[in-house]
Amino acid sequence: MHSRDCKIVATMGPASDPPERLLMLLQVGVDCFRLNFSHGAREDHARRMASIREAETKIGRPVGVFADLQGPKIRVGMFKDGQITLKYGEIVTLEGSNEPGEQGVIRLPHPELVGALEVGDILKLDDGKMQLTVTECTGALLKARVDFGGVLKNQKGVNVPTRRIPISALTDKDKDDLKYALELGVDYIALSFVQHPDDVKEARELIGDRAGIISKIEKPSALTEIEQIVEVSDAVMVARGDLGVELPPEQVPIAQRKIIRAARAAGRPVIVATHMLESMVDAPTPTRAEASDVATAVYQGADAVMLSAESAVGRHPQSAVAIMDRIIRAVEDDAEYWASLPRDMTPPQATTADAIALSARNIADVIGCSAVVAFSATGSTAYRVARERPRCGVIGLTPVLATARRLTLVWGTRAKVTDDIHSVEEMVDRADAAVRALGVAGPGDRVAIIAGIPFGRAGKTNTIRVLRLE
Ligand code: PGA
Ligand code: MN
Repeated sequence: MHSRDCKIVATMGPASDPPERLLMLLQVGVDCFRLNFSHGAREDHARRMASIREAETKIGRPVGVFADLQGPKIRVGMFKDGQITLKYGEIVTLEGSNEPGEQGVIRLPHPELVGALEVGDILKLDDGKMQLTVTECTGALLKARVDFGGVLKNQKGVNVPTRRIPISALTDKDKDDLKYALELGVDYIALSFVQHPDDVKEARELIGDRAGIISKIEKPSALTEIEQIVEVSDAVMVARGDLGVELPPEQVPIAQRKIIRAARAAGRPVIVATHMLESMVDAPTPTRAEASDVATAVYQGADAVMLSAESAVGRHPQSAVAIMDRIIRAVEDDAEYWASLPRDMTPPQATTADAIALSARNIADVIGCSAVVAFSATGSTAYRVARERPRCGVIGLTPVLATARRLTLVWGTRAKVTDDIHSVEEMVDRADAAVRALGVAGPGDRVAIIAGIPFGRAGKTNTIRVLRLE
Protein backbone atom coordinates (compact mmCIF):
# COMPACT_ATOMS: atom_id res chain seq x y z
CA MET A 1 0.00 0.00 0.00
CA HIS A 2 2.99 2.18 0.72
CA SER A 3 4.40 4.13 -2.21
CA ARG A 4 7.98 5.21 -2.86
CA ASP A 5 9.33 7.87 -0.46
CA CYS A 6 12.36 9.26 -2.30
CA LYS A 7 11.18 11.31 -5.26
CA ILE A 8 12.38 11.36 -8.87
CA VAL A 9 13.15 14.55 -10.82
CA ALA A 10 13.62 14.33 -14.59
CA THR A 11 15.10 17.05 -16.79
CA MET A 12 13.04 17.89 -19.87
CA GLY A 13 14.66 17.87 -23.28
CA PRO A 14 14.18 16.51 -26.80
CA ALA A 15 14.22 12.92 -25.46
CA SER A 16 11.28 13.54 -23.13
CA ASP A 17 9.29 15.89 -25.40
CA PRO A 18 6.86 13.62 -27.26
CA PRO A 19 3.59 13.85 -25.27
CA GLU A 20 3.14 10.07 -25.06
CA ARG A 21 6.73 9.79 -23.77
CA LEU A 22 6.09 12.46 -21.16
CA LEU A 23 3.02 10.65 -19.89
CA MET A 24 4.97 7.40 -19.80
CA LEU A 25 7.71 9.06 -17.70
CA LEU A 26 5.05 10.04 -15.17
CA GLN A 27 3.60 6.55 -15.22
CA VAL A 28 6.97 4.94 -14.49
CA GLY A 29 7.66 7.32 -11.64
CA VAL A 30 8.64 10.96 -12.30
CA ASP A 31 7.37 13.28 -9.56
CA CYS A 32 8.79 16.61 -10.71
CA PHE A 33 10.28 17.99 -13.94
CA ARG A 34 13.19 20.36 -14.45
CA LEU A 35 13.19 22.95 -17.23
CA ASN A 36 16.84 23.73 -17.87
CA PHE A 37 17.20 27.39 -18.85
CA SER A 38 20.85 26.84 -19.82
CA HIS A 39 19.55 25.22 -23.00
CA GLY A 40 16.62 25.76 -25.30
CA ALA A 41 14.56 28.73 -26.39
CA ARG A 42 11.65 30.27 -24.53
CA GLU A 43 9.17 28.56 -26.83
CA ASP A 44 10.66 25.20 -25.84
CA HIS A 45 10.07 25.91 -22.16
CA ALA A 46 6.54 27.17 -22.79
CA ARG A 47 5.69 24.15 -24.91
CA ARG A 48 7.15 21.79 -22.30
CA MET A 49 5.25 23.48 -19.49
CA ALA A 50 1.99 23.11 -21.42
CA SER A 51 2.65 19.41 -22.12
CA ILE A 52 3.48 18.75 -18.47
CA ARG A 53 0.26 20.36 -17.29
CA GLU A 54 -1.68 18.34 -19.85
CA ALA A 55 -0.02 15.11 -18.73
CA GLU A 56 -0.63 16.06 -15.10
CA THR A 57 -4.37 16.16 -15.77
CA LYS A 58 -4.20 12.74 -17.42
CA ILE A 59 -2.19 11.12 -14.61
CA GLY A 60 -4.47 12.62 -11.96
CA ARG A 61 -1.87 13.67 -9.37
CA PRO A 62 0.02 16.92 -8.83
CA VAL A 63 3.26 17.22 -10.81
CA GLY A 64 5.95 19.73 -9.82
CA VAL A 65 8.00 21.80 -12.27
CA PHE A 66 11.08 23.86 -11.60
CA ALA A 67 12.95 26.32 -13.78
CA ASP A 68 16.70 25.94 -13.43
CA LEU A 69 18.37 29.30 -14.17
CA GLN A 70 21.78 29.22 -15.79
CA GLY A 71 23.34 31.56 -13.23
CA PRO A 72 26.75 33.19 -13.55
CA LYS A 73 28.30 30.37 -15.53
CA ILE A 74 31.58 31.95 -16.59
CA ARG A 75 32.80 31.23 -20.08
CA VAL A 76 35.88 32.14 -22.09
CA GLY A 77 35.18 34.37 -25.07
CA MET A 78 35.53 33.45 -28.73
CA PHE A 79 38.85 32.76 -30.47
CA LYS A 80 39.91 34.13 -33.85
CA ASP A 81 40.36 30.56 -35.08
CA GLY A 82 37.57 29.06 -32.98
CA GLN A 83 40.07 27.43 -30.62
CA ILE A 84 43.59 27.56 -29.22
CA THR A 85 45.99 24.95 -27.91
CA LEU A 86 47.26 25.14 -24.36
CA LYS A 87 50.60 23.45 -23.73
CA TYR A 88 51.80 22.21 -20.34
CA GLY A 89 54.02 24.79 -18.62
CA GLU A 90 53.24 27.57 -21.12
CA ILE A 91 52.45 31.06 -19.76
CA VAL A 92 49.29 32.59 -21.24
CA THR A 93 47.69 36.01 -20.90
CA LEU A 94 44.22 36.47 -19.43
CA GLU A 95 42.28 39.62 -20.13
CA GLY A 96 38.77 40.87 -19.34
CA SER A 97 37.47 41.83 -22.77
CA ASN A 98 34.82 41.02 -25.37
CA GLU A 99 37.39 40.81 -28.17
CA PRO A 100 38.25 37.39 -29.60
CA GLY A 101 41.31 35.67 -28.13
CA GLU A 102 44.22 34.13 -30.01
CA GLN A 103 47.04 31.65 -29.42
CA GLY A 104 48.52 32.50 -26.00
CA VAL A 105 45.77 35.00 -25.13
CA ILE A 106 42.46 34.10 -23.50
CA ARG A 107 39.87 36.85 -23.26
CA LEU A 108 37.03 36.57 -20.78
CA PRO A 109 33.91 38.73 -21.18
CA HIS A 110 33.91 39.15 -17.35
CA PRO A 111 36.27 42.01 -16.37
CA GLU A 112 35.02 41.87 -12.76
CA LEU A 113 36.23 38.27 -12.47
CA VAL A 114 39.64 39.01 -13.95
CA GLY A 115 39.97 41.99 -11.57
CA ALA A 116 39.26 39.77 -8.55
CA LEU A 117 41.83 37.08 -9.30
CA GLU A 118 45.13 36.90 -7.45
CA VAL A 119 48.39 35.04 -7.83
CA GLY A 120 47.80 31.37 -6.97
CA ASP A 121 44.15 31.31 -8.06
CA ILE A 122 43.17 28.32 -10.17
CA LEU A 123 41.02 28.37 -13.30
CA LYS A 124 39.50 25.13 -14.51
CA LEU A 125 38.52 25.16 -18.16
CA ASP A 126 35.95 23.04 -19.99
CA ASP A 127 34.69 21.07 -16.96
CA GLY A 128 38.18 20.72 -15.56
CA LYS A 129 39.76 19.21 -18.68
CA MET A 130 42.35 21.99 -18.61
CA GLN A 131 43.75 24.02 -15.71
CA LEU A 132 45.61 27.31 -15.26
CA THR A 133 47.26 28.85 -12.21
CA VAL A 134 47.57 32.64 -12.01
CA THR A 135 51.25 33.63 -11.74
CA GLU A 136 51.24 37.41 -12.18
CA CYS A 137 48.75 40.27 -11.87
CA THR A 138 49.46 43.57 -13.57
CA GLY A 139 46.35 45.70 -13.63
CA ALA A 140 43.79 44.33 -16.07
CA LEU A 141 46.21 41.74 -17.45
CA LEU A 142 46.96 38.44 -15.81
CA LYS A 143 49.54 35.82 -16.58
CA ALA A 144 48.77 32.19 -15.92
CA ARG A 145 50.65 28.93 -16.23
CA VAL A 146 49.09 25.91 -17.94
CA ASP A 147 48.92 23.00 -15.45
CA PHE A 148 46.96 20.66 -17.75
CA GLY A 149 46.86 21.46 -21.43
CA GLY A 150 44.49 20.66 -24.26
CA VAL A 151 42.44 22.29 -26.96
CA LEU A 152 40.32 25.19 -25.69
CA LYS A 153 37.35 26.01 -27.87
CA ASN A 154 35.05 29.05 -28.04
CA GLN A 155 32.92 29.79 -24.97
CA LYS A 156 33.96 26.82 -22.87
CA GLY A 157 33.11 27.03 -19.16
CA VAL A 158 35.48 28.43 -16.55
CA ASN A 159 35.39 27.44 -12.88
CA VAL A 160 37.37 29.26 -10.21
CA PRO A 161 37.30 26.99 -7.16
CA THR A 162 39.73 29.11 -5.16
CA ARG A 163 37.69 32.30 -4.94
CA ARG A 164 34.25 33.66 -4.15
CA ILE A 165 33.36 35.27 -7.44
CA PRO A 166 32.15 38.87 -7.19
CA ILE A 167 29.16 38.20 -9.41
CA SER A 168 25.54 38.03 -8.26
CA ALA A 169 23.82 34.65 -8.56
CA LEU A 170 21.36 36.32 -10.97
CA THR A 171 22.66 37.59 -14.30
CA ASP A 172 20.58 39.80 -16.62
CA LYS A 173 19.66 36.69 -18.61
CA ASP A 174 18.58 35.00 -15.36
CA LYS A 175 16.37 37.95 -14.45
CA ASP A 176 14.63 37.77 -17.84
CA ASP A 177 14.32 34.00 -17.61
CA LEU A 178 13.02 34.27 -14.06
CA LYS A 179 10.25 36.63 -15.10
CA TYR A 180 9.32 34.35 -17.94
CA ALA A 181 9.40 31.20 -15.78
CA LEU A 182 7.11 32.82 -13.22
CA GLU A 183 4.69 33.72 -16.01
CA LEU A 184 4.71 30.08 -17.04
CA GLY A 185 3.70 29.21 -13.48
CA VAL A 186 6.63 27.04 -12.36
CA ASP A 187 6.56 25.82 -8.77
CA TYR A 188 10.20 26.40 -7.91
CA ILE A 189 13.09 28.43 -9.27
CA ALA A 190 16.53 26.80 -9.00
CA LEU A 191 19.42 29.24 -8.53
CA SER A 192 22.77 28.13 -9.92
CA PHE A 193 26.14 28.84 -8.26
CA VAL A 194 24.69 30.21 -5.03
CA GLN A 195 27.64 31.37 -2.94
CA HIS A 196 26.06 33.20 -0.04
CA PRO A 197 22.66 33.56 1.72
CA ASP A 198 22.42 37.07 0.20
CA ASP A 199 22.20 35.49 -3.28
CA VAL A 200 19.04 33.71 -2.17
CA LYS A 201 17.64 36.80 -0.47
CA GLU A 202 18.19 38.83 -3.63
CA ALA A 203 16.23 36.27 -5.65
CA ARG A 204 13.50 36.17 -3.01
CA GLU A 205 12.95 39.91 -3.45
CA LEU A 206 12.11 39.26 -7.09
CA ILE A 207 10.19 36.02 -6.62
CA GLY A 208 8.17 36.75 -3.48
CA ASP A 209 5.89 33.82 -2.75
CA ARG A 210 5.20 33.07 -6.42
CA ALA A 211 7.59 30.10 -6.39
CA GLY A 212 9.85 28.25 -3.98
CA ILE A 213 13.63 28.64 -4.25
CA ILE A 214 16.00 25.72 -4.75
CA SER A 215 19.61 26.68 -4.02
CA LYS A 216 22.04 24.70 -6.12
CA ILE A 217 25.17 23.97 -4.13
CA GLU A 218 27.97 23.79 -6.67
CA LYS A 219 30.62 26.18 -5.30
CA PRO A 220 33.00 25.35 -2.46
CA SER A 221 32.32 28.85 -1.09
CA ALA A 222 28.68 27.81 -0.53
CA LEU A 223 29.77 24.91 1.67
CA THR A 224 31.25 27.13 4.34
CA GLU A 225 27.85 28.76 4.91
CA ILE A 226 25.65 25.85 4.07
CA GLU A 227 23.43 26.12 7.18
CA GLN A 228 22.67 29.79 6.49
CA ILE A 229 21.97 29.11 2.81
CA VAL A 230 19.68 26.20 3.64
CA GLU A 231 17.82 28.33 6.16
CA VAL A 232 16.81 30.98 3.58
CA SER A 233 16.04 28.42 0.84
CA ASP A 234 12.96 26.25 0.30
CA ALA A 235 15.02 23.34 -1.03
CA VAL A 236 18.62 22.60 -2.01
CA MET A 237 20.37 20.62 -4.71
CA VAL A 238 23.65 18.78 -4.48
CA ALA A 239 24.76 19.87 -7.96
CA ARG A 240 27.61 17.44 -8.39
CA GLY A 241 28.40 18.39 -11.99
CA ASP A 242 29.93 21.77 -11.25
CA LEU A 243 30.73 20.91 -7.64
CA GLY A 244 32.86 18.06 -8.97
CA VAL A 245 34.81 20.45 -11.16
CA GLU A 246 35.44 22.89 -8.33
CA LEU A 247 36.30 20.28 -5.70
CA PRO A 248 38.74 17.38 -5.97
CA PRO A 249 36.73 14.19 -6.62
CA GLU A 250 37.40 12.72 -3.19
CA GLN A 251 35.72 15.74 -1.59
CA VAL A 252 32.43 15.38 -3.52
CA PRO A 253 31.01 12.51 -1.39
CA ILE A 254 31.92 14.39 1.79
CA ALA A 255 30.20 17.52 0.50
CA GLN A 256 27.13 15.50 -0.52
CA ARG A 257 26.80 14.12 2.99
CA LYS A 258 27.28 17.51 4.56
CA ILE A 259 24.66 19.18 2.34
CA ILE A 260 22.11 16.39 2.89
CA ARG A 261 22.66 16.59 6.67
CA ALA A 262 22.20 20.37 6.72
CA ALA A 263 19.03 20.19 4.62
CA ARG A 264 17.53 17.38 6.66
CA ALA A 265 18.31 19.14 9.92
CA ALA A 266 16.45 22.22 8.71
CA GLY A 267 13.59 20.23 7.15
CA ARG A 268 14.26 21.43 3.61
CA PRO A 269 13.98 18.97 0.72
CA VAL A 270 17.34 18.02 -0.81
CA ILE A 271 17.85 16.77 -4.38
CA VAL A 272 20.96 14.78 -5.34
CA ALA A 273 21.77 15.57 -8.95
CA THR A 274 24.01 14.86 -11.93
CA HIS A 275 25.64 11.75 -13.40
CA MET A 276 23.41 9.44 -11.37
CA LEU A 277 22.76 7.08 -14.29
CA GLU A 278 24.98 8.87 -16.81
CA SER A 279 25.92 5.75 -18.79
CA MET A 280 22.22 5.34 -19.63
CA VAL A 281 22.48 8.30 -21.98
CA ASP A 282 23.60 5.54 -24.38
CA ALA A 283 23.33 2.20 -22.62
CA PRO A 284 20.05 0.44 -21.74
CA THR A 285 21.25 -0.49 -18.24
CA PRO A 286 23.25 1.44 -15.61
CA THR A 287 26.67 0.47 -14.31
CA ARG A 288 26.77 -1.20 -10.89
CA ALA A 289 28.57 1.86 -9.56
CA GLU A 290 25.71 4.10 -10.73
CA ALA A 291 23.11 1.86 -9.08
CA SER A 292 25.17 2.10 -5.93
CA ASP A 293 25.37 5.89 -6.20
CA VAL A 294 21.58 6.25 -6.40
CA ALA A 295 21.16 3.83 -3.49
CA THR A 296 23.67 5.78 -1.39
CA ALA A 297 21.70 9.01 -1.85
CA VAL A 298 18.54 7.18 -0.76
CA TYR A 299 20.27 5.65 2.29
CA GLN A 300 21.48 9.13 3.23
CA GLY A 301 17.86 10.26 3.34
CA ALA A 302 17.75 12.48 0.23
CA ASP A 303 14.27 13.71 -0.65
CA ALA A 304 14.84 13.31 -4.37
CA VAL A 305 17.28 12.06 -6.97
CA MET A 306 17.58 13.67 -10.38
CA LEU A 307 18.14 12.69 -13.99
CA SER A 308 19.80 15.23 -16.29
CA ALA A 309 21.06 14.18 -19.72
CA GLU A 310 19.58 10.70 -19.15
CA SER A 311 16.04 12.04 -19.53
CA ALA A 312 16.76 15.19 -21.56
CA VAL A 313 18.82 13.84 -24.44
CA GLY A 314 19.45 10.17 -23.62
CA ARG A 315 18.41 7.14 -25.62
CA HIS A 316 16.53 5.47 -22.74
CA PRO A 317 14.72 8.08 -20.66
CA GLN A 318 11.92 5.74 -19.68
CA SER A 319 14.23 2.91 -18.59
CA ALA A 320 16.34 5.39 -16.62
CA VAL A 321 13.28 6.46 -14.61
CA ALA A 322 12.10 2.86 -14.19
CA ILE A 323 15.52 1.74 -12.95
CA MET A 324 15.80 4.69 -10.58
CA ASP A 325 12.38 3.74 -9.22
CA ARG A 326 13.49 0.13 -8.69
CA ILE A 327 16.74 1.12 -6.97
CA ILE A 328 14.86 3.42 -4.59
CA ARG A 329 12.22 0.82 -3.79
CA ALA A 330 14.87 -1.80 -3.14
CA VAL A 331 16.57 0.46 -0.57
CA GLU A 332 13.24 1.35 1.02
CA ASP A 333 12.50 -2.38 1.39
CA ASP A 334 15.72 -2.81 3.37
CA ALA A 335 15.29 -2.80 7.16
CA GLU A 336 18.76 -1.28 7.49
CA TYR A 337 17.48 1.83 5.69
CA TRP A 338 14.77 2.38 8.30
CA ALA A 339 17.21 1.65 11.10
CA SER A 340 19.74 4.16 9.76
CA LEU A 341 17.41 7.07 8.92
CA PRO A 342 16.93 8.18 12.56
CA ARG A 343 20.67 7.98 13.21
CA ASP A 344 21.17 10.83 10.77
CA MET A 345 18.42 12.89 12.35
CA THR A 346 18.93 16.00 14.46
CA PRO A 347 16.44 17.05 17.17
CA PRO A 348 13.46 19.10 16.01
CA GLN A 349 13.50 22.87 16.35
CA ALA A 350 11.88 24.17 19.54
CA THR A 351 8.62 25.15 17.86
CA THR A 352 5.04 23.95 18.33
CA ALA A 353 4.97 22.80 14.69
CA ASP A 354 8.05 20.59 15.13
CA ALA A 355 6.84 19.23 18.46
CA ILE A 356 3.53 18.29 16.84
CA ALA A 357 5.27 16.78 13.82
CA LEU A 358 7.50 14.62 16.01
CA SER A 359 4.54 13.56 18.17
CA ALA A 360 2.55 12.59 15.08
CA ARG A 361 5.46 10.43 13.94
CA ASN A 362 5.61 8.77 17.35
CA ILE A 363 1.87 8.16 17.45
CA ALA A 364 2.02 6.69 13.97
CA ASP A 365 4.85 4.34 15.02
CA VAL A 366 3.26 3.27 18.32
CA ILE A 367 -0.20 2.42 17.00
CA GLY A 368 0.80 1.62 13.42
CA CYS A 369 -0.97 4.40 11.56
CA SER A 370 -1.39 4.14 7.79
CA ALA A 371 -0.47 7.80 7.26
CA VAL A 372 0.15 11.14 8.89
CA VAL A 373 -2.27 13.57 7.28
CA ALA A 374 -1.08 17.18 7.35
CA PHE A 375 -3.46 20.04 6.56
CA SER A 376 -1.75 23.19 5.38
CA ALA A 377 -2.18 25.99 2.88
CA THR A 378 1.55 26.62 2.49
CA GLY A 379 2.68 23.00 2.90
CA SER A 380 4.89 23.89 5.87
CA THR A 381 3.19 21.35 8.16
CA ALA A 382 3.88 18.57 5.65
CA TYR A 383 7.55 19.67 5.40
CA ARG A 384 7.87 19.48 9.18
CA VAL A 385 6.37 15.97 9.38
CA ALA A 386 8.44 14.72 6.45
CA ARG A 387 11.52 15.96 8.33
CA GLU A 388 10.75 13.28 10.94
CA ARG A 389 10.72 10.60 8.20
CA PRO A 390 7.63 8.71 9.45
CA ARG A 391 7.61 5.18 8.11
CA CYS A 392 3.92 5.38 7.11
CA GLY A 393 4.47 8.43 4.91
CA VAL A 394 2.72 11.78 4.80
CA ILE A 395 -0.43 12.90 3.04
CA GLY A 396 -0.40 16.65 2.48
CA LEU A 397 -3.88 18.13 2.11
CA THR A 398 -4.11 21.68 0.89
CA PRO A 399 -6.63 23.95 -0.80
CA VAL A 400 -3.77 25.40 -2.90
CA LEU A 401 -2.79 23.52 -6.07
CA ALA A 402 0.64 25.22 -6.18
CA THR A 403 1.37 23.87 -2.68
CA ALA A 404 0.41 20.34 -3.74
CA ARG A 405 2.82 20.66 -6.66
CA ARG A 406 5.66 21.91 -4.46
CA LEU A 407 5.23 18.91 -2.18
CA THR A 408 6.26 16.62 -5.05
CA LEU A 409 9.89 17.23 -3.99
CA VAL A 410 9.30 16.28 -0.36
CA TRP A 411 10.30 12.86 0.98
CA GLY A 412 7.42 10.46 1.62
CA THR A 413 4.74 13.05 0.90
CA ARG A 414 1.77 12.64 -1.40
CA ALA A 415 -0.33 15.74 -1.85
CA LYS A 416 -3.97 16.20 -2.66
CA VAL A 417 -6.03 19.31 -3.18
CA THR A 418 -9.09 19.62 -0.95
CA ASP A 419 -11.53 22.46 -0.44
CA ASP A 420 -11.12 24.86 2.48
CA ILE A 421 -12.10 23.39 5.82
CA HIS A 422 -13.82 25.25 8.64
CA SER A 423 -14.42 22.71 11.39
CA VAL A 424 -12.97 19.59 13.01
CA GLU A 425 -15.79 17.57 11.44
CA GLU A 426 -14.78 18.78 7.98
CA MET A 427 -11.12 18.09 8.75
CA VAL A 428 -11.85 14.49 9.72
CA ASP A 429 -14.17 14.05 6.77
CA ARG A 430 -11.63 15.33 4.21
CA ALA A 431 -8.79 13.28 5.71
CA ASP A 432 -10.96 10.17 5.65
CA ALA A 433 -11.95 10.72 2.02
CA ALA A 434 -8.37 11.51 0.93
CA VAL A 435 -6.67 8.47 2.44
CA ARG A 436 -9.36 6.19 0.98
CA ALA A 437 -9.10 7.83 -2.44
CA LEU A 438 -5.30 7.45 -2.41
CA GLY A 439 -5.64 3.84 -1.27
CA VAL A 440 -3.42 4.29 1.78
CA ALA A 441 -6.03 3.33 4.39
CA GLY A 442 -9.30 1.42 4.59
CA PRO A 443 -11.83 0.29 7.23
CA GLY A 444 -10.24 -0.31 10.64
CA ASP A 445 -7.00 1.56 9.78
CA ARG A 446 -5.90 4.58 11.76
CA VAL A 447 -4.36 7.84 10.60
CA ALA A 448 -2.86 10.72 12.61
CA ILE A 449 -4.19 14.08 11.44
CA ILE A 450 -2.38 17.32 12.22
CA ALA A 451 -3.70 20.80 11.59
CA GLY A 452 -3.87 24.33 12.92
CA ILE A 453 -7.05 25.42 14.68
CA PRO A 454 -8.68 27.85 14.07
CA PHE A 455 -8.59 26.80 10.41
CA GLY A 456 -7.47 29.10 7.63
CA ARG A 457 -4.55 30.74 9.45
CA ALA A 458 -1.04 30.00 8.23
CA GLY A 459 1.67 28.73 10.57
CA LYS A 460 -0.52 27.66 13.46
CA THR A 461 -0.10 23.88 13.60
CA ASN A 462 -1.26 22.95 17.08
CA THR A 463 -3.53 19.90 16.94
CA ILE A 464 -3.26 16.13 16.52
CA ARG A 465 -6.29 13.93 16.04
CA VAL A 466 -6.23 10.17 15.61
CA LEU A 467 -8.90 8.85 13.28
CA ARG A 468 -10.01 5.25 12.92
CA LEU A 469 -11.66 4.66 9.57
CA GLU A 470 -15.14 3.09 9.65
P1 PGA B 1 23.60 22.03 -14.25
O1 PGA B 1 23.53 21.87 -12.68
O2 PGA B 1 23.20 20.71 -14.86
O3 PGA B 1 22.63 23.11 -14.52
O4 PGA B 1 25.03 22.42 -14.49
C1 PGA B 1 23.72 20.67 -12.03
C2 PGA B 1 25.16 20.40 -11.69
O5 PGA B 1 26.04 21.25 -11.88
O6 PGA B 1 25.39 19.30 -11.15
MN1 MN C 1 25.73 23.23 -12.53
